[in-house]
Amino acid sequence: MNKNLFEAQKCFPGGVNSPVRAFKSVGMDPLFIQKAYKSKIVDSDGREYIDYVGSWGPAILGHADETVIEAVQKKLSNGLSFGAPTTQETELANLIKEAFPHMERMRFVSSGTEATMSAVRLMRGYTGKPLIIKIDGAYHGHSDSLLASAGSGVATFGTPDSAGIPAGIVNNTLVVPFNDIEAVKKCFAEHTDQIAGIIIEPVCGNMGVVLPEDGYLEALRKITKENKALLIFDEVMTGFRACYGGVSTLKAITPDITCLGKIVGGGMPLAVYGGKKEILAMIAPDGPVYQAGTLSGNPIAVAAGIATLNKIKADKNFYVKLLTTAETLKNGIEAIAKHRNLPLKINSFGSMMTIFFSKEKEIKNYADAKTSDTKLFAAWFKKMLENGVYLAPSQFEAMFISAAHTKNDIDLTLEAADRALVLHFH
Ligand SMILES: *Cc1c(COP(=O)(O)O)cnc(C)c1O
Repeated sequence: MNKNLFEAQKCFPGGVNSPVRAFKSVGMDPLFIQKAYKSKIVDSDGREYIDYVGSWGPAILGHADETVIEAVQKKLSNGLSFGAPTTQETELANLIKEAFPHMERMRFVSSGTEATMSAVRLMRGYTGKPLIIKIDGAYHGHSDSLLASAGSGVATFGTPDSAGIPAGIVNNTLVVPFNDIEAVKKCFAEHTDQIAGIIIEPVCGNMGVVLPEDGYLEALRKITKENKALLIFDEVMTGFRACYGGVSTLKAITPDITCLGKIVGGGMPLAVYGGKKEILAMIAPDGPVYQAGTLSGNPIAVAAGIATLNKIKADKNFYVKLLTTAETLKNGIEAIAKHRNLPLKINSFGSMMTIFFSKEKEIKNYADAKTSDTKLFAAWFKKMLENGVYLAPSQFEAMFISAAHTKNDIDLTLEAADRALVLHFH
């Protein structure tokens, strides 16, 4: 074990401050990072890697983007936190509204976890109903009621996904497989007038990237409306990933509440939930649903968010270029896999994608994703790292392409992949 990890483990469980960083699922020690710039990340020994983690999503412009850093630096000497409103918060909210017009009112918080937790409370507060539906394998942060996974069979009450969560809490969470509208119908049929709504990653990113089948999200919209229940789109990962907006924009579906995070904070701790104004009128101080935060709307985070969104907005070809880069990488890896006769499945959405080491024809839900050969993934991860490419250390994560990834980065990544994919399915 290296010294950094040894010392860190004396301070933190696993030596880390968020579990996936520990590299447990690939059986390695994590790299300790000293800095990152553009598409590169540099470890504590000074080794440089092409980075596809992008801080797990926020770094869409690449790391340490000059415009964002400058905007943050300008604000720093004015003070780091006021605990009082600033006009910049309204400025960022208006940028978000342009992209997500159905977020008529919103609330800034400090993490995606807070955004989804608050959105669920709001959904229950607004409808006055106790139950929620979530998708098996979807991740919405680590709040109690959302850390539920499916029990045996479909459309079951969830079982706690973590110790320390009373069954009584996840008993109010129904878990259904992704892309299974019948399971959702069954929930509504069995729990008439008890379901507050559905929370969903409209494109999943946290079981690896999994896309909604045609008509699925539309059907969820319809069934929630018919049952006077709400639909929450958790776009913490997908927001601003594939277009200046989210899945709701591309599919022209209007959820009742949307959660954003990651990119909207430009690398700083900022997330948001918002929706129709009559729904947000339930939030304190306007209404009875309580939610607050000492550092919410933090001026430095807001400055980073504004700079990020403005920079994306200013470049009319931003997403065309970004998606072309992502497509080149995807096509390149698919070509190598085909050449080597490896049955990989790549699912992608805009500039995020997952390479599933699975023999399944298609990956449509969490059960499919779990058919992946995680040993093979671990071998691939290790070889890519040895070849200078830093990927997310789990089969069930996405890789993120940023605007800072160059043609040369992609060429080098494909060369590395060509060397790494000398693998054999078990
Ligand atoms: C990352 C993520 C979250 C949690 O956000 P944190 O800022 O890590 O708390 C919630 N939902 C989705 C879809 C995410 O990708």
